[in-house]
Amino acid sequence: MNVVEWRIRGTRLPELMKPCVDCSSKLHRPSGKFRMNANGKLLDVWLLVFCAKCGRTSKVAIHERVPVAVLGNERIRRYESNDSASIATALMDQNIARRNNYRLDWEGAWCLEVQPLASCGGHVLVRFEVPVPIRPVKILMRGLALSRGKVVEAVGSGLITMPIDVNAKASSDFEFRIAPALPVVPGTGGRDAGA
Ligand SMILES: [Zn+2]
Repeated sequence: MNVVEWRIRGTRLPELMKPCVDCSSKLHRPSGKFRMNANGKLLDVWLLVFCAKCGRTSKVAIHERVPVAVLGNERIRRYESNDSASIATALMDQNIARRNNYRLDWEGAWCLEVQPLASCGGHVLVRFEVPVPIRPVKILMRGLALSRGKVVEAVGSGLITMPIDVNAKASSDFEFRIAPALPVVPGTGGRDAGA
C-alpha cells in the first residue's frame, strides 16, 4: 500500500477579522508583541494587534486579572519575551477569539505540501500543522491537480474514499484512499484562500 502524507503548513500568522474603531478597515495584523500589566498579584496580558489600514493599535485580551501564581514564571517569561510560539497559540485559541470577537483570515497564510503518489492509487494522510478551515475538495483539487467536478465525481463513484464530507470545512487531520483506477497527476502544492 502506497501511503503518503500531505501537510497544511502555516507560512505566516493569519490576520484578524475585526473592525477598526478609527477607520473603515475590518482587518488587523498581529504585531508580534504582548503587553502585560501588573496590579498587585494580578496580571493582565494582551496581544497587541494593529489595523491593516491606519495602523491603530488594539489589544486582544489573553488573561484578565489572573493571579501571577496561576500563570507561573515560565509562561510569564514567554509573554515578556514575546515568544513567537505563544503568540501563534494565543491568536489561534478559539476561546480567546470568541471573547475578543474576531475570526482569523487565513488567506495567503498557508500552503499545501504534497508528497507525490505513485500512479497506482494509495492512501493519503492530510495533516494540519495549523488549524486552517478548508474544504477537503479544495485540498484534493490542489493535491491531485483535478477540477472540482472530477474530485466530486471520483468521490461519488468510489474512486476516492473519504471519511468526511468533501464540501464541509475541516481543520483537523483526515485520511482518504485513492483507487488504482483513478489517473492522477500529483500537484505541486501552493497557497490559497482556504474558502
Ligand atoms: Zn484603522
